[in-house]
Amino acid sequence: MNRKSPTNLPSSRHSSTKQVKGKVGRVARASANETPANLEAIVAQLLKVLGEDPKRNGLEETPKRVAKALTFFTKGYQEDVDALVNDALFPIEYDEMVIVRNIDFFSLCEHHLLPFFGKCHVGYIPDKRVVGLSKIPRIVEVFSRRLQVQERLTVQIAETLQAKLKPIGVGVVIEARHLCMMMRGVEKQNTLAVTSHMLGAFRKQQQTRDEFLKLIRSGSQNSE
Ligand SMILES: [Zn+2]
Repeated sequence: MNRKSPTNLPSSRHSSTKQVKGKVGRVARASANETPANLEAIVAQLLKVLGEDPKRNGLEETPKRVAKALTFFTKGYQEDVDALVNDALFPIEYDEMVIVRNIDFFSLCEHHLLPFFGKCHVGYIPDKRVVGLSKIPRIVEVFSRRLQVQERLTVQIAETLQAKLKPIGVGVVIEARHLCMMMRGVEKQNTLAVTSHMLGAFRKQQQTRDEFLKLIRSGSQNSE
């Protein structure tokens, strides 16, 4: 993530990025935890190219560990968001705002393969159906455990809820720190990148959007 400058929580800015469905790069594997066949060898090669001796004491197990870690960090490619959500939809007569805030997430920026991480806040106003509350952090997990840019991650979470729930409105706000910004520059240690995607009533009605932003702000631990 390079282009975003630090901001406070947005009050009226909406992302208009088109949704990109996350099917790219899906490789058939037995399970999300199965390490791809040649990943260890590639990591050993990487160590060599960087000027290291992959056989030296301390690095012997590193290719195996890195391969395992990378597999975990990208396990979202192996997970099916449709299967996750479709089983957890419930009819309900409730039309007040539902908010799940401060969802911790960890992702990898697709430009540098370095972590970006922070909090995700999700809100929606149901129209006759809701999704099990525990599924919302799982949706965030499916999309964040992939190579990402923060803007697309925000859009994918919002568009998934929009498509599955057909709610009156959806809002997603992500506040994140990017190691590619923190490690490579100076005086960027506290930079917080904030993205939002608002749909339906959250986009059209200032009052709804303001209520959502007020509710997530009161619980945000990342805001300074
Ligand atoms: Zn980056």
